[in-house]
Amino acid sequence: MRDFSTGHEWLSINTATVRRQWDLPQIIDECAKRNIRAISPWRDQVAAAGIDNVRRQLKAHEIGLSGYCRGGFFPAADAAGRQAALDDNRRAIDEAKTLDAACLVLVVGALPGALEGKAAYKDIARARTEVRDGIAASLEYAHEVGMPLAIEPLHPMQAADRACINTLEHALDVCDELDPKRSGALGVALDIYHVWWDPKLEQQIARAGKERLLAYHVCDWLTPTRDLLSDRGMMGDGVVELRKVRGWVEAAGYAGFSEVEIFSELDWWKRPGEEVLDTCVERHRSVV
Ligand code: ZN
Repeated sequence: MRDFSTGHEWLSINTATVRRQWDLPQIIDECAKRNIRAISPWRDQVAAAGIDNVRRQLKAHEIGLSGYCRGGFFPAADAAGRQAALDDNRRAIDEAKTLDAACLVLVVGALPGALEGKAAYKDIARARTEVRDGIAASLEYAHEVGMPLAIEPLHPMQAADRACINTLEHALDVCDELDPKRSGALGVALDIYHVWWDPKLEQQIARAGKERLLAYHVCDWLTPTRDLLSDRGMMGDGVVELRKVRGWVEAAGYAGFSEVEIFSELDWWKRPGEEVLDTCVERHRSVV
């Protein structure tokens, strides 16, 4: 297992972590100041800054992308909606390619309309079929241009509105069905916040192996959790055995970045960005 205590060359910052404090150009500058070598930006932040500007700035600082957030949201109420989702995923793949991302992260979607408070239908099995078909259709293009797709299983509390793939096992089943040769074109983004509780976690990480483990996201699970989406903890402040899980991930062959992704309405988004990034560096060394 790699020793993170002496440096942070394997730290990446998911830019949602400081999105309330700074825009993307400033986030990149602040990461550069701290010798952080990778980020994972969100599409809206890239669009606001202009993708060519972002590309140039990253290049100037020699900062890479551990992932690009995000594609997915495949299910829709009708065929036109599903086609619009595929078109949008194609644009996301192109953007990820322009920025030379390690992968495009997929939050696959769930019951269409549920996120806005009114589900167009209640059949979660149908949503899962539409997700599989959407990934299959996107995979062809992604494979052609060489942009790996990383399915992110989300905690079951988000099964209705954000992602109906909720365990690593389920994500890997989809990978095996659509990419049986383990080509490297399709895998998973393993986010500790979503999977830490899973009794099959160790076993399924071993099953995933190097070819399927495309990204590793860290934060911590707070007790109590006060908000289903935006109350993630800083690493070390919650109940997740981070070192143990990273040991499993590395034993399976993963040797990439450890990406900090913290949505924190009640705490970290209220603090100065400098303090957040400095704490990420410190905790990466001491507890991740
Ligand atoms: Zn994540």
